[in-house]
Amino acid sequence: MAKGLVVILTGASSVGKGKIRDLLLADEDLKLFFSISETTRPRKENEVDGKDYYFVSYKQFAESVKNKELLEYTEFNGYYYGTPKAQVDFLVSKGKNVLIEVEAQGVGPIKLNIPDSVAFFVMPASEEELERQITERYKDDEASVARRLNKAKMEMELAPLFRNVVTNEDGEAAYKQIKEVILTVLENRKNR
Ligand code: 5GP
Repeated sequence: MAKGLVVILTGASSVGKGKIRDLLLADEDLKLFFSISETTRPRKENEVDGKDYYFVSYKQFAESVKNKELLEYTEFNGYYYGTPKAQVDFLVSKGKNVLIEVEAQGVGPIKLNIPDSVAFFVMPASEEELERQITERYKDDEASVARRLNKAKMEMELAPLFRNVVTNEDGEAAYKQIKEVILTVLENRKNR
């Protein structure tokens, strides 16, 4: 059976990857399965354990790292996030296409492990727009705003390393742009 395609969605933090991710996952033409990450971050009220993330303790996360169960992992804003390898391997081996959403540093290790994965870097419409979004989202926590803004600026410096850079003026348009590229990659793989 042909292996599934791994799609990586990344970009500066708070750039609106979530909306694009949801549109991609809902798209029946793409048949993407979401790679559920492990995180030590506390669950938010609207999140479901085992759907949005696997919410784990530091001890459990350390075990996963020790046992080499993660394709990659990172520390972000004081919490750990990692991509479980077995889940991606299983889905891909069954011919399923997988969507992995990670912050930018996670992309390198995934690409090394899965060279024929395809990565998309989402850029904000402008730095001002990004600042507005981060300030809006984390308005109750000034230190977090400053940290996320700094991190986002550093992440944006990685954009030139990506072949597929998508500007998020509007989530719907960005999703459509990404969808077109994925469909082309899938078509090319069929003809290989
Ligand atoms: P949040 O706490 O807002 O859900 O996620 C914070 C950041 O961590 C986002 O940029 C998200 O893309 C990233 N992230 C989520 N899961 C993973 C993962 O498994 N690995 C890496 N490297 N980043 C992740």
